Amino acid sequence: MSLPFNLKALADRFDASSQPTYLSLYADLSDSRHVSAMGRRQREIRAAMPSSHARARLDETMARVLAAYERARIRPGTRAVAVFAGPDGFLEEHSLQAALETRVVLDSSPYIAPLARFADDNESCVLALLDSEHAAIFVVWAGRAQLLQELETSLIGRHRHGGMSQMRFQRHREGQVDHFYDYVAGHVARIVETEGVARIAVAGPGPAKRDFVSRMPQALRSKVALVADVDFKVGPADDTLVRRFVALMRDEEAKQSVQWLEALRRELAIGELAITGALECAQQAASGRVERLIVLGGASMAGGKCEEHQEVFQRGGRCHCGAAGADVDLVNEAVEFTTRSDGQCEFVESAEHFLDEAGGIGALLRW
Ligand SMILES: [Zn+2]
Repeated sequence: MSLPFNLKALADRFDASSQPTYLSLYADLSDSRHVSAMGRRQREIRAAMPSSHARARLDETMARVLAAYERARIRPGTRAVAVFAGPDGFLEEHSLQAALETRVVLDSSPYIAPLARFADDNESCVLALLDSEHAAIFVVWAGRAQLLQELETSLIGRHRHGGMSQMRFQRHREGQVDHFYDYVAGHVARIVETEGVARIAVAGPGPAKRDFVSRMPQALRSKVALVADVDFKVGPADDTLVRRFVALMRDEEAKQSVQWLEALRRELAIGELAITGALECAQQAASGRVERLIVLGGASMAGGKCEEHQEVFQRGGRCHCGAAGADVDLVNEAVEFTTRSDGQCEFVESAEHFLDEAGGIGALLRW
C-alpha cells in the first residue's frame, strides 16, 4: 500500500523566482463553515494581489483547486481534503481520514506544515490481533486500517493426534502454537518490510500476545510499541476492535512526541546539538542539519525567503543576493527543509513553557 501523499515530493517544490504561485487548501469537512472560510480566504488573497495579471493567475489556480476539492471531498470516509496547485499545471488532491483545520495559503511553495503534522499524528503501524489459533494483520495509515492477512493455524497443517498420550499431545499442541506464532511473525516481518512501517501493535486475549512477542526475532520485537489485552467477540478481524487500536496507537504517537520535547529540553541544557526559534531552525534545516524538528501545533512566524538561493531570513530582511524574496511562514519552511533532508518532524500539543517562549519550535541537530 503506497501512502496517500508524498510529503517529500511536495517539500521539494518551489517557485524559483520567489513568486507566490502555489495555492494550498486544507478543508475540514466536519465543520460546515469551511466553505465560507474558503471563500473569505480567497477574497483576502485576491485583494492582496498587486496586479490584474496576478489576480487572473490566482483565479485560474483557484478554479483548479476547487474542482480538485469537489473530487476529493466525495470519496467515501473523507473527513478533510488537502489540495496543492502550482505552475505548469501542477495539481494534487488528497482525501484524508482525519480532521484538519481549514486553511488557504498562497506561497512560493506548497504549504506542507499541516500535512506533515497529520502524517506525524497518524504515523503508520502494523496491527496484529491474534490468539493461539487465529490472527489478523492490518496496516494502519492516516487513521484507516486495511486488513492484509487473515491466518489460521489450520492452514499450516493440522496433524492427527489419535493415540497420543495426554503429555505427548500437550507438547505437540505447544509446538503447533509456537509454529503458528512464528508463521504469523514471518508475515508481520514481511509487511513491516514492504510497507516501510516502523511500529507494531500486538493485541489478543490471554497469554497469546506475550508468547507471540517473546518469540519474535529481536529486530522485529524492537518495533513493538504496544501490547494490549483484548477479548475477541467476533474473531480478530473485528472493526470495532481495530478502530480502538487505531486510537490507542495515535495516543502512543502523541506520547512519543512529548518524549522528543523532553529530549530537546535536555539537549538545550547540556549540549550544542539543539536550537530553538523559527529562523534558526529554518536556517539549520536548510543546510540539512536538522535530525528532528519539534513543533508546537499551530506555531508560525512571518519571514522571508529567496527561492533562487533557498535562503531564509527575517521579515523585512534580504537574501545575500539582495533580493527581498517571498513572504513565508518560517515554521513551514523549517518543516519543508527538514522533510527534504530526511529529518523527522514531531508535532506536540501542550507545550512546555520553554518551547512557548522560543516561538513554539526547536530542533535536535545532526552531528
Ligand atoms: Zn538570493
